[in-house]
Amino acid sequence: MPESLEPTAPQPKDWIRAIHAYVPGKSSGADGRPLVKLSANENPLGTSAAALAARAQAGEPSRYPDPDSTALRDALGRKHGIDPARIVMGTGSDELLNLAAQAYAGPGDEVLFAQYSFSVYDIAARRCGATPVVAPDADFGTDVDALLALVGDRTRVVFVANPNNPTGSFLPASEIARLHAGLPSHVLLVLDQAYAEYLEAEDDDGGLALAARAKNVLVTRTFSKIFGLAGERIGWATGDAALVGMLNRIRGPFNVSVCGQAAALAALGDADFVDRSREMNFALRERFAAKMAALGNHGIRPLPSKANFVLVLFEGALSAEAAYNGLMERGYIVRWLPGQGLPHGLRVTVGTSEQMDEIAAAIRDMAEDLR
Ligand SMILES: *Cc1c(COP(=O)(O)O)cnc(C)c1O
Repeated sequence: MPESLEPTAPQPKDWIRAIHAYVPGKSSGADGRPLVKLSANENPLGTSAAALAARAQAGEPSRYPDPDSTALRDALGRKHGIDPARIVMGTGSDELLNLAAQAYAGPGDEVLFAQYSFSVYDIAARRCGATPVVAPDADFGTDVDALLALVGDRTRVVFVANPNNPTGSFLPASEIARLHAGLPSHVLLVLDQAYAEYLEAEDDDGGLALAARAKNVLVTRTFSKIFGLAGERIGWATGDAALVGMLNRIRGPFNVSVCGQAAALAALGDADFVDRSREMNFALRERFAAKMAALGNHGIRPLPSKANFVLVLFEGALSAEAAYNGLMERGYIVRWLPGQGLPHGLRVTVGTSEQMDEIAAAIRDMAEDLR
């Protein structure tokens, strides 16, 4: 190569260059004003008092944490009836989703997921050089037949969030079983259950049972949502010993901090906080969704949600963008999703009772003002 054509700076791999960085939920407006943040599905009740106390008393910051998060994995194993050897912790479930793709897919392989699912899947696929393949949705929900139709020779990993973010849709156990049964046994099914603790008991999607007996199912969970520990970055995954062993090989060696391990252990023991969070979420989510459904004559439609947020579609005179900006003027930030193919959608995290009533009233007023 002639010298003049040599690159003058390090050149990223093409597949890395093609990544659009994850867009986190914002907490302030364009003018820097702090806003009530209902854009990242965080727990409006904050964190369990027991977890806060344990975090404050956690060991020496000069010492590395337990690399195996032993006490935390033991507690998770006891709670869910899983051999702790089949549990691997992550720096958030985000680390584990990325590692799952990296361990089982690479250049020339395909990573499959549904349209309108979690935006990290696209990044996880591209980071390892694999090709993301997007299956069409079924009215914004995950379509098992559409996923299965796209499984081919190159498919290595299938990601399904259940409940799904950003739509809130949910696949019952029968659909998860049908998806798994339709996959070749060498294709890894990653079931992302970040919102599982918000489900009612009868809504178990069977993922943990599947992960306990199948060789190609990994379930991921997180302490970021109902446990109110998003800031500590703690997730976990379970599956066949071979899958867990592979993730253990490539994870960060000290990937959960001293404070994070202590806080998560205490949070797991505070069933009362989790129950209160779930019950409050259920009541406020349904009340908010009903208020949005009542605005159907304005082209406003809430999608049914099993999670701690509601995706509201604006298909009338009031656009999602106008509603987003109007809410911001009133001190609230929610998630507008043009980058995820949903320019007509706002994802609203379920906040406190007053917050939800204020948001619902603001959306109604904005819609009525346009009549
Ligand atoms: C919030 C969320 C996660 C959690 O990510 P962490 O890295 O554990 O904070 C995972 N998957 C989905 C679908 C989510 O919405």
